[in-house]
Amino acid sequence: MRLIFLGPPGAGKGTQSKLLTKRFGARHISTGDILRDHRVAGSDLGRLAEGFMRHGELVPDKLILKMIEGEVEKSPRGFIMDGFPRTVAQAEAFDALLGSKGLALDAVVLFDVDRDTLVKRLTARWTNPLTGKSYNAITNPPPGPGMRDADGTELIQREDDKPETVSKRLDVYREKTEPLVAYYRKRGKLVPVNGLAPVEEVTRQIVSALSPELQAK
Ligand code: AMP
Repeated sequence: MRLIFLGPPGAGKGTQSKLLTKRFGARHISTGDILRDHRVAGSDLGRLAEGFMRHGELVPDKLILKMIEGEVEKSPRGFIMDGFPRTVAQAEAFDALLGSKGLALDAVVLFDVDRDTLVKRLTARWTNPLTGKSYNAITNPPPGPGMRDADGTELIQREDDKPETVSKRLDVYREKTEPLVAYYRKRGKLVPVNGLAPVEEVTRQIVSALSPELQAK
């Protein structure tokens, strides 16, 4: 399975990626998670990415593309790309990379969610720093007492989920990433899903858009 999940921050790409990669045995490739790991580890890439991420800006294409190549190589059973590509230049380079390996994309799933809902979801999002699992303080509160996970881990609010940065990230999505909708529609790959539907219903919509061979896996 080789899928791209396309959509603004907060649309549910991460949640669905985790559910579907578990079910289909593919690899979940979240460029945001990889970059956050680099920041924690204090690597060169982490240091270079830090300022862009803190301000809700995109990390330069060159750095992202270098990172992606290795990830695809580590994915013999396929992947779900979550948060990549985010620019037309990244999409073109990714097409070239897949082409050079004789691989094709199965589909690009577009998560459709309105801006007001995204702002509400992101600013209420609390994340487990160890597992990446996230909760919504209003609609899906964490199980532990206070802002804690079931095992007692203290949840954090991602620095870029704070209101001022959320608005910037949504503007960047509209300007830099939304053109990918037309890019993949033209190539016959686009599968829109209703990101406002309950989690299980979104999963069902995605699975029903997959080919019968993939569904049978
Ligand atoms: P995310 O967790 O996907 O919302 O990503 C968090 C931040 O990481 C973004 O706001 C960007 O600064 C950076 N980032 C993640 N993926 C990419 C990408 N494909 N291209 C450029 N920047 C990215």
